[in-house]
Amino acid sequence: MTQTQTAVCTRIASRNAALADRLWGSVETDHGEEYDRKARAKGRELCASCPMLENCLAQALTGRWRDDRIVGGLTYRERRKLARCVGEGLDVPPRRLGHVHPNRVAAWIREHPQSIDIARDEQRSYWRRTKQANHESRPVGMPAQGTLF
Ligand code: SF4
Repeated sequence: MTQTQTAVCTRIASRNAALADRLWGSVETDHGEEYDRKARAKGRELCASCPMLENCLAQALTGRWRDDRIVGGLTYRERRKLARCVGEGLDVPPRRLGHVHPNRVAAWIREHPQSIDIARDEQRSYWRRTKQANHESRPVGMPAQGTLF
């Protein structure tokens, strides 16, 4: 394997595992595990330039990885959106993607690179709609925190 074929996260983790955790995973704090949002945004950027991007996403989708690490530039929920997109493209129900060879999934993503942005945008608009719906269903004068309980 040449240097250009090595996953960016693997290269960074081999030099600084704590930094890799911060960029793609979570960090231990006094309050438990937390996400460093700025670092994870940087992790996403690094994924975009990673030579393993499509293979990485294909492994995550076919292996049904459920953790919320940043993988292939996407969170778990975003990967679920991508799985739906890939499933439609390959005419396979998303829950059956585990039966598809990762190379086939990687090839489809390589041919449809926009599907990654679509998955990210769909998840973003889902959150926007959910926040809007919560806001609209809240009785006038009730603080936002009231919706949590
Ligand atoms: S695309 Fe995958 S392999 Fe590459 S840096 Fe991101 S998480 Fe690591």
